[in-house]
Amino acid sequence: MSKDRISVYKFGGASVKSAEAFRNLAQIVQTNGSEQRLLLVVSAMGKTTNALEELLNLASQQREYEQAFLQLKAYHQEVLHELFPDRDHPVYQRLDHLFELLHLQLGSTPQNDNFDKVYDQTVSFGELFSSSILHHFLEAQGFPNTLLDSRKYIQTDNNWREARVDWGWSERLIKRDVLPLLQEGLVVTQGFLGGTNNGLTTTLGREGSDFSAAIFAFCLDAEGMYIWKDVPGLLNADPKYFQETVCYAEISYQETVEMAYYGASVIHPKTIKPLANKQIPLYVKSFLNPAGAGTKISDCRFEKFAPAYIIKENQCLVSFSVKDFTFISEQNLGTIFNALSELRIKINVMQNSAISFSICTDYHPTRLHRLIQTLHDQFVIHYNTELRLYTIKNYDADSLAKMLQDKEVLLEQRTRTTFQFVSK
Ligand code: ASP
Ligand code: MG
Repeated sequence: MSKDRISVYKFGGASVKSAEAFRNLAQIVQTNGSEQRLLLVVSAMGKTTNALEELLNLASQQREYEQAFLQLKAYHQEVLHELFPDRDHPVYQRLDHLFELLHLQLGSTPQNDNFDKVYDQTVSFGELFSSSILHHFLEAQGFPNTLLDSRKYIQTDNNWREARVDWGWSERLIKRDVLPLLQEGLVVTQGFLGGTNNGLTTTLGREGSDFSAAIFAFCLDAEGMYIWKDVPGLLNADPKYFQETVCYAEISYQETVEMAYYGASVIHPKTIKPLANKQIPLYVKSFLNPAGAGTKISDCRFEKFAPAYIIKENQCLVSFSVKDFTFISEQNLGTIFNALSELRIKINVMQNSAISFSICTDYHPTRLHRLIQTLHDQFVIHYNTELRLYTIKNYDADSLAKMLQDKEVLLEQRTRTTFQFVSK
């Protein structure tokens, strides 16, 4: 078979969480790599990003972080020891060096007051570790490959923690350099990371590696993008909450985008647009059963399919009322929306009545307090936290009953296809 096809494979944290997982990944590359040119986009190992967030929090509060640092280092070293019996292998030096840089970064945290900027310079180490290990491991297994620094290719602005991509610039760079590299062999790069034009690291939002892979797929005009996960494909519900789940064999970009938007954790919400714009199919497959069919997401249409259940945790319901019993006006709404946009508070659901306006949003304590500070002169503001936003797409009587059972509903909204409510 000719090797003209380019595919982008994204491996999430679970697919590189242990030495065994790395070996399994190499097996997938071996099975599929002879038929196509592969770009591998890898996330941080296991729960490393959470651990880095925790380290940063400790450092920024001037609390003790050495122990947590050593723990994270030990986790990576354990995997190295299993994968590279030769202790003189250059991967050891490389990882030591990266951990030294992380240590320096943590040490300089308290002096820096732009938390979000420091966040990106710190939390990005997870992908630098994992991609380095993958690069060396594949090489040791007989798969020569280039380790690409995605920060030099995914060019972004400095909207820290949720950087916006400069598509034109990124596409030019990726076409210029990555296409020829793929002619030579495998390419390995980091998910989640981007870079500014003055060389600083940015991140694309938590769970953003899917989006990274889609950016590369778009810029390379790939034939397909594959997300390798620990589930059989795109499911109609998170197995964490539901015992019985259905795996969709095929589903449209549009349905998927909506599910991701409502909070299905399976795919990062920004992933679909670049793929849909170029009609690049997205496959969700299981790294535990690579031969399984998985799910194909493309520009298809189906009349009816299993209701999808989506639960978004850590929600906060905020209501704004005018103080003098006048109605909520467009001008009031304008004021509220401006404040929300400035504080980067995203609305998940909203509703208005005569004298109040309510939104359901992810709970960020500092942003919420700033919102209250900004608006408390003009509005009476109440809020409830520790809530969940429940969404059912393609709902019917049965699915509604199942989801609503024993729940006190604080806000609800329905369209012809989608039912949403906020509850404990
Ligand atoms: N490692 C990053 C995170 O956990 C990005 C990703 O996994 O997609 O958020
Ligand atoms: Mg991750």
